[in-house]
Amino acid sequence: MAEFDETFDWVVVGSGAGSMSSGLLMRQAGKSVVILEKSPYVGGTTCKSGGVMWIPNNPFMDPGEDSTEQGITYLDKVVGDTSDAPGTTHEKRLAYVVEGPKMVEFLVRQGVQLERGSHFWPDYYDELPGGCKTSRTVVAKPFDKKELGEWAPRLRQGFLEVPVRLDDGMKLAFANQSWAIKLQFVKIGLKIAAGKLTGKHWVTAGAALQGRMLKAALKAGIDIRLESPVTELVVEAGKVTGVVTVKDGKPWRVGGRLGVLVNAGGFARNQEMRDKYMPGTRAEWSMVNESDHGDMHKEMERHGGVLAQMDEMVGFQMTRAPGWENEYVAPGAQSVTAKPHAILVDQSGVRYMNEGGSYEEYCERMLKRCAVVPAVPSWAIMDSRYIDKYMVAGAGHGKIPRKYVESGYLKRADTIEQLAELIKVDPATLKATVERWNGFVDKGSDDDFHRGDREYDKFLGDPFRQGTLTTLGRIDKAPFYAVDVVPGDVSTYGGVITDVNSRVLKADGTPIEGLYATGVSTASPMGRVYPGAGASVGPSMTFGCIAAKHAAGLGNQAV
Ligand SMILES: Cc1cc2nc3c(=O)[nH]c(=O)nc-3n(C[C@H](O)[C@H](O)[C@H](O)COP(=O)(O)OP(=O)(O)OC[C@H]3O[C@@H](n4cnc5c(N)ncnc54)[C@H](O)[C@@H]3O)c2cc1C
Repeated sequence: MAEFDETFDWVVVGSGAGSMSSGLLMRQAGKSVVILEKSPYVGGTTCKSGGVMWIPNNPFMDPGEDSTEQGITYLDKVVGDTSDAPGTTHEKRLAYVVEGPKMVEFLVRQGVQLERGSHFWPDYYDELPGGCKTSRTVVAKPFDKKELGEWAPRLRQGFLEVPVRLDDGMKLAFANQSWAIKLQFVKIGLKIAAGKLTGKHWVTAGAALQGRMLKAALKAGIDIRLESPVTELVVEAGKVTGVVTVKDGKPWRVGGRLGVLVNAGGFARNQEMRDKYMPGTRAEWSMVNESDHGDMHKEMERHGGVLAQMDEMVGFQMTRAPGWENEYVAPGAQSVTAKPHAILVDQSGVRYMNEGGSYEEYCERMLKRCAVVPAVPSWAIMDSRYIDKYMVAGAGHGKIPRKYVESGYLKRADTIEQLAELIKVDPATLKATVERWNGFVDKGSDDDFHRGDREYDKFLGDPFRQGTLTTLGRIDKAPFYAVDVVPGDVSTYGGVITDVNSRVLKADGTPIEGLYATGVSTASPMGRVYPGAGASVGPSMTFGCIAAKHAAGLGNQAV
């Protein structure tokens, strides 16, 4: 029998999205819980994120708007079963669709204030059967992190620390086009000022979610230990009975009577692992937290866990504006090339995708394109109407920082041919690409890649335009502009294979007793696809709950 320095019922490795949801469930069942977190901060990449959870048939949707059947129909269609994605099965997808809404209801009962993310945030493949053209998103309400008392400085920094709903925050990019949005801006400004006067520290998005989860976890008596990296799993006769962490600089053995849940994130900051599993991608293009090194991937594999889908990441296109290396969240380029008057081309000057689709697929296409022609970086091509109306790397609306041009980041030319020369592309090819594009715009139909055919493409476009023109717009007004776009990411998406109860499976398909995993430590239950906004945080939360239910033998009543 292994000897432990202390023992809990439930040991959680990492304070990701599923850590506290599973812990809350355990506490409700009267079990003791410890969360061991490597970094000095609570919340993981989830805290840095939009905090959006993709939950089909969630309780914030209108009656009849969605159903379990529609959710699973969509997931089965968009994800499907393939031998190269063993992290997903119909049973797991169904468990997700059934348990996700219960997880949301459970958290709300625990005092975690959640709401619908938006009324218009379509699934990323909304055109497929069961696809949702409204929104399956759930988010936390903005949170005053001062409510955490002495724990407030321990909540990882979010990317949006203002009192604004994420949905409203995204509209601010169009403040130049609408007095209503300008007014909203003013109201937010007043709320920030009021917050400062009354000593509030508002956070939104992922930090609001994890802040609210942390508040509930502390209230429920979950023991949370920071700077406590787990270095080893303790295994006795094939069963995981605890972990080894570090306390006061020395190994500290912690037993888990009901098991160990690994929610330790992915390996996006580990270039060696990236080179092995996803060559051509770069750690510095990732926006994840700094402790995302895949420690537990290796440790679970050492004990018989099987890694799968390791070449997958939740790609997120980014652009390397001056200073991007030092940004907490580097400048994304998700909607840049999906806006009117913009396209993406490879290094031969050819357009090769629907720029409007999911960011995961966008980056996958960039990497695949490289097998044919250099496409990393690719180039966003825009005209002056784009620059006047929209934004690039946080700037725009006609006002481009001088350093963008002087540093050579933003290329500018009077003709498409001259622009082509600046980005070292054949002028005739780029001109032909742009002319072909303009022809598609004129007839309102992108015959090559069907940009604008799905609602999600339009969501990324300009809400003040109509039909396919929401995202299509001619590129013909000089000067013309280009910026680079690289396949960054917001997470890796591969890890250990788990079963419908979140148990880590061995190569023979049997579970490793006592070992559970959730989040991006696992091979995603979404396979190789990103079905909608929140398809990482939602599963992490839900499969965390499922793990706790299984380990504590709670059946279906608890969630
Ligand atoms: C800017 C941005 C926006 C995003 N927006 C969204 C969104 O809105 N919705 C969505 O679904 N996804 C979003 N993502 C992706 C998403 O945030 C991540 O995929 C997700 O948060 C991963 O969650 P997780 O629960 O697996 O782990 P994480 O939240 O990453 O937490 C893992 C934790 O484990 C800790 N850890 C690591 N190793 C150890 C160890 N050995 N011992 C102890 N602790 C350890 C880490 O320090 C970390 O705190 C976004 C990401 C970014 C960067």
